[in-house]
Amino acid sequence: MTETYQHYIDGEWVTGKGTDTFTSENPATGERLGEFRRGTPADVDSAVDAADAAYEEWRVLSRIDRAEFLWDVYHELRDRTGELGEIVTRECGKEISEGRADVVEAAHMVEWAAGDARHPKGDVVPSEIAAKDAYMRRKPRGVTGCITPWNFPIAIPYWHMAVALVEGNTVVFKPAEQTPWCAQIIAEMFDDAGIPPGVFNMVQGFGDAGNAIVESDDVATVLFTGSAEVGHSIATDLAGESGKRVACEMGGKNAIVVTDEADLDIAVHAAVMSSFKTTGQRCVSSERLIVHTDVYEEFRDRFVAAASSVAVGDPLDETTFMGPLIEAGHREKVTEYADIAREEGVNVLVDRTELDAEEIPEGHAEGHWAGPFVYEADPDEDLRCTSEEVFGPHVALLEYEGDIERAVEIQNDTAYGLAGAIVSEDYRQINYYRDHAELGLAYGNLPCIGAEVQLPFGGVKKSGNGYPSAREIIEAVTDRTAWTLNNSKDIQMAQGLSADITTEDDA
Ligand code: ADP
Repeated sequence: MTETYQHYIDGEWVTGKGTDTFTSENPATGERLGEFRRGTPADVDSAVDAADAAYEEWRVLSRIDRAEFLWDVYHELRDRTGELGEIVTRECGKEISEGRADVVEAAHMVEWAAGDARHPKGDVVPSEIAAKDAYMRRKPRGVTGCITPWNFPIAIPYWHMAVALVEGNTVVFKPAEQTPWCAQIIAEMFDDAGIPPGVFNMVQGFGDAGNAIVESDDVATVLFTGSAEVGHSIATDLAGESGKRVACEMGGKNAIVVTDEADLDIAVHAAVMSSFKTTGQRCVSSERLIVHTDVYEEFRDRFVAAASSVAVGDPLDETTFMGPLIEAGHREKVTEYADIAREEGVNVLVDRTELDAEEIPEGHAEGHWAGPFVYEADPDEDLRCTSEEVFGPHVALLEYEGDIERAVEIQNDTAYGLAGAIVSEDYRQINYYRDHAELGLAYGNLPCIGAEVQLPFGGVKKSGNGYPSAREIIEAVTDRTAWTLNNSKDIQMAQGLSADITTEDDA
C-alpha cells in the first residue's frame, strides 16, 4: 500500500490543509496497513462548512429518499461481510468472528434506520378545542458531529450516522485514529452510494480534530462514544452553551453477580465471555465478578481454569478466543493496573499479562499481547484496581455473604452504570437485581455483552448521558415541534381563556 489516504469533504477526496500523516498498524503483527492524512482543526472547519451548505437541500428530501442512499450501504455491508470482517480484525485485533459481527451489527443499524424511514413518525395529539388539530413533529437539527472509538470501527460509526442521516441531518465523521482504514471504507461506501456532496464528510485524525468538531459553532449535535475522561470533558465544555446538544456513551466497571443457587455452567461461561471477549476492550466488558460464598470456591476454581487456558493468539485464526490489545500504550496501561492490583495487596490467581514466548504465534512478536489477569479482592476495601476501568482482561473476584441486597450493594458501589448481569435460578433474586442494580444494560443468565440495535444501549451515572439506541438517537438528532392547526374560522383558546378582544367601548 503506497498511497496516502485522504479525507472525504464535500464529495471529494482531499489532502486537507495539514501536512502530517499517520500510520495504521495491525496490533497483532505490527504490519503497516496504510498511511493517512492527519486532519487539522482547519480541515474540520472545511468539513463543517460543507455539511452546513448541504443541509438545506438534504433536509427537504423525503425521509424515504434519504434512506435510499442507506440501502445501498446496507447491501454493500451484507455482500462484503467476510472481507470487511477480516479488515476489522487486521486493524483492531478482535478475533475474526468479532470482526464479522462488527460488520453485521453495522448492517443491522443501517437496516433499522433505512427501514424506519417508512414508519409513521410523530404523534397525533388530542386538543381541548374540537376544531384544532395538534401534532408532535420532528425536525432535523443540522450538522451532526460523530466522534467514534476504535473497538467497533464499523458498527459504532453507523450507530451514530445512519439515523442522523435518515432524519435529515448532515454529518462530519471523525473516526478513531487507531482504525482509519475501516473509516476509509465507510467513506468509500457513502461515495459509492452517490450521497450528495457535503451530506457525509470524514476527517481522519486525532483528538484535536475531534475537539474542533466540539468547538465549532456550526455543529448542532455531537454524538461521542469513547472514554469517560474525554466524554466528560466534552459534556462539561458544552454545558454552558445553549443550542448545542451532546450525547456521550462511555465506559464502565461492569460486574456479574453469581448467586448462591446459580447454575455454574452458565456463570462460568457468561463470565469468560464478558471478561475476555475483545480482550476485555468493550465498554461493557466485566472487570468484577461478585460471587456468593456458597458457590465461591467452585466458581473460582472453574473460572481460574478457564482463564488459565483460554486461547490467546492470532485473531485471524478461527480457534482464537482473544486477540491482542489495541496498541503499545494501552498494553502499558493494562500492565500498570496489574502492578497496582499487586501493590494494593490482592490475591493474584492468574497472571498472563506477559505471555510466554511459546504462546505468541509465529510472525506475531510485534503484537501487543496480554492474557487474563485474575485476582481475589475484598469488596469492602476501597481499591483502584476494583474501581477504575482498565479496559483489558483484568478481573476481580469479589466474594459476598448474605442476600441479594448485599450483592447489589457491591454491584452499585461504582461511579459507573453501564452493563451488568445476574446468574441465578431464583426469580426473586433476579427481580430484585433487575429493580435495584444501577445499570443501563442488564442481563439475566447471560454475559453482560451482546447489544442488539433495536434495544436501548447506554449507561447511567458516569457511563453516559446518552441517546444511545436507534430510537433514542432520533431524539438526539432532531427537535420536536408541537404543531397546531385551526380548522374553524374562529379562534378558540384552551383552558377557557377568553379569545374576545374587548375595546374601551365595551367597558
Ligand atoms: P479510547 O480510550 O476508546 O481510545 P478516547 O476517548 O480516547 O477513547 O477516543 C474516542 C474518540 O474521541 C477518538 O475518535 C478520539 O480521537 C476522540 N478524542 C480524543 N480526545 C478528544 C477531545 N479532546 N475532543 C474530542 N474528541 C476527542
